[in-house]
Amino acid sequence: MPQLIEPNPRTQSQSSDRPTWELYSVCIHCGLCLNACPTYRVLGMEADSPRGRIYQVLQADAGRLPIGNSFVTHIDRCLDCRGCETACPSGVQYGRIVERARSLIETNYKRPWLERTLRAYFFGKVLRDFRKLAGWARLLRFYQRSPIPKLLRLSGILRVFGVEQVEALAPRIDTSFYFENFGQVFPADGERRGRVALLAGCISSVAFAELNAATVRVLQRNGVEVHVPAGQGCCGALHAHAGFRDQARELARNNIRVLLDSRFDAIVTNAAGCGSTMKEYSDLLEHDLEFRDQAVQFENKVKDITEYLSEQGLRSPQRKLAKRVTYQDPCHLAHGQRVRRAPRELLRQLGADFVEMPHSDICCGSAGIYNVAQNELSMKILAQKMNDVAAVTPEIIATANVGCMLQLRAGAKQRGMNAEVKHVIELLDEAYR
Ligand code: SF4
Ligand code: SF4
Repeated sequence: MPQLIEPNPRTQSQSSDRPTWELYSVCIHCGLCLNACPTYRVLGMEADSPRGRIYQVLQADAGRLPIGNSFVTHIDRCLDCRGCETACPSGVQYGRIVERARSLIETNYKRPWLERTLRAYFFGKVLRDFRKLAGWARLLRFYQRSPIPKLLRLSGILRVFGVEQVEALAPRIDTSFYFENFGQVFPADGERRGRVALLAGCISSVAFAELNAATVRVLQRNGVEVHVPAGQGCCGALHAHAGFRDQARELARNNIRVLLDSRFDAIVTNAAGCGSTMKEYSDLLEHDLEFRDQAVQFENKVKDITEYLSEQGLRSPQRKLAKRVTYQDPCHLAHGQRVRRAPRELLRQLGADFVEMPHSDICCGSAGIYNVAQNELSMKILAQKMNDVAAVTPEIIATANVGCMLQLRAGAKQRGMNAEVKHVIELLDEAYR
């Protein structure tokens, strides 16, 4: 059993983003979180469990463990899925601990050159500038629609370089990007029951534009006027999860300026990871005297689309979904936002023959860019998930997050399953059409 060690003020990180004693001392080392942790379930190692990671963070913060390869490996392997938070009887805010631990890594550890350069460019440039993101998306679209991927696959080159599975996980880039809709207002159908701002998202705008369009249509059908304010940016979730908290703060401030408006009843998103981070902007901006009060107002308005529709009360769709449907909880919806009932309720209202799979709230291994950065481990976690899916033989696997959709589609394909993977909103949209 690990011993508690008092923090050493001389060696503790001085950054305001350091994992504080107040956060990690809440852990009483009971181990009740271990079986809820996907990496512990696969690897069976204490160092890759929530309790083990908290202990390493504590040691590193106390200056007794170097922020070196071993520490970075175990912290990098964490999905930041926060399943341990739900399991923890002591109220440990594990997400806050691991995100601060990653900030500690970014400021105290030098990653290999290529990794460092790619991370700096992706987080620092591409995700913060939608013109750059669109440029790279166009390039990827050209590649995906050319004969090159097929040739590379047939030649075996992708397998030789170990990127075959990563390539299969890449989202299919859309013909037109959702950025074109920025600045538009979509009127409510019939009597107006609400007015919302939609966060369209970064990757969603280039690879899930049709899902955003479906989200708007479903809201309209439910009497909601939808604004897609121009000037909105990435929510900062990927930055916060990777330890780039200053960049996440900059993005949070921008979204507060653009989306916090008394005209809107809610700020709606169809991506669980974005919603979870936006509901925690006050944590990011707690030391920002100018923005901290606005951050609280902002996060009080943020709603996941399923949560918003469930609270509004769904207008009955014309068609019923007479299919056997199971649901995978996106981690940042179930554990980050504690939203579990709303998506299930919507599926039942659709007329689905709903069947609960085992361990539906255990991560599928997607976790932002985790399935690329930690591909091998992610695939092992996905294999366990697909065992749970197979146990209930669904015709449709529903979820409420784009990252989970891509991961589950890859899992279903690998297993040769016929089940379709759909966002709850896509199913609603189909029922209204
Ligand atoms: S966040 Fe997820 S992967 Fe990380 S320690 Fe907690 S349960 Fe395990
Ligand atoms: S369940 Fe909570 S208190 Fe117990 S070991 Fe895990 S994080 Fe610590």
